[in-house]
Amino acid sequence: MEARAGNLIIGGNHPVSVQTMYDSSLQGIDPVLIIERISSLHALGCDAIRFSFISHDDAAPFGYIASHSPIPVIADIHFDWKMALLALKAGAHKIRINPGNIGAKWKTEEVVRAAAGCGAAIRIGLNSGSLPVMEEGEGEAEAMVRTALEYLDWFQGWGFSNTVVSLKSSDVAETVKAARLFSASSDYPQHIGVTEAGSPVISAVRSTWALGTLLSEGIGSTIRVSMTGDMEDEVIAGAELLRTLGLRKRGVRIISCPRCGRHAFDTIAFEKKVRRRLLSLDKDISVAIMGCLVNGPGEAKGADYAITGMKDKVYLYRKGKLIGSVEEADAEEALFEAIGNE
Ligand code: SF4
Repeated sequence: MEARAGNLIIGGNHPVSVQTMYDSSLQGIDPVLIIERISSLHALGCDAIRFSFISHDDAAPFGYIASHSPIPVIADIHFDWKMALLALKAGAHKIRINPGNIGAKWKTEEVVRAAAGCGAAIRIGLNSGSLPVMEEGEGEAEAMVRTALEYLDWFQGWGFSNTVVSLKSSDVAETVKAARLFSASSDYPQHIGVTEAGSPVISAVRSTWALGTLLSEGIGSTIRVSMTGDMEDEVIAGAELLRTLGLRKRGVRIISCPRCGRHAFDTIAFEKKVRRRLLSLDKDISVAIMGCLVNGPGEAKGADYAITGMKDKVYLYRKGKLIGSVEEADAEEALFEAIGNE
């Protein structure tokens, strides 16, 4: 099955997409700057972005963003069904709700009918932190799956199937278990992610283990690598995970050495400085960033572009051939000039 949110199709044989969530309130923001940031996130590999929609005052900035964003915009709703109606009216391409905290069933029905009326998708988002009452013998995963299937029955009864489901836990094993159980019972597309996964390095480990396991089994149509950190890093981690699994082809592959006492070029500082710029390039290339002649020239042979330190200069390679040398201070521009000249 598939769900459509704006120009993004989730599920079926469509590519697995990457999402992130905007990290601040919609109040007091400059929507034009937000559109620039969304465009940067899109260049890094983000396919959809979600905003918390919590008050009437969010409708105007949300509406501007939804109509100017290069990627679908999702409203995250909790508790107040009227916020869902407002977000849909403002142009949300998709909303995320947990019918369990919306209140009476008729409120969810109104939201679902409104989404149908404007062609928006709905994610039924269940978290272990807001679980319904568990039945005897059930664990978190079983309770989430049973509840999601019940809500899907409601939605289908109202003639609505433009739906995605997420069953998230901060426990990676429960997340994997819930997604597997759901996948065995339903063809609806799943949004997968480990919720509250922690700071970037910790989240990357937990998320890679859980999402990599599921995606390798063909489970998961859209992902979010949740981080206590920057949205850009969430997107980079998600896109890199898909590329590593062979589920995303386009993009730059960075190869970089960890730097050691032999280094003649500070690869740690350089990689940090150029990472987002490199990963925003719409090119299918590999770039090696190497600290010295031990492995620098060797990696340069296999990379489309390489930069490596030797003695007091940095050397640039294209397809294994040396094309020049510059001072370390000029390395960034020299590298991008070489790539841009391709
Ligand atoms: S390439 Fe050179 S600087 Fe980098 S880790 Fe290897 S030996 Fe150390």
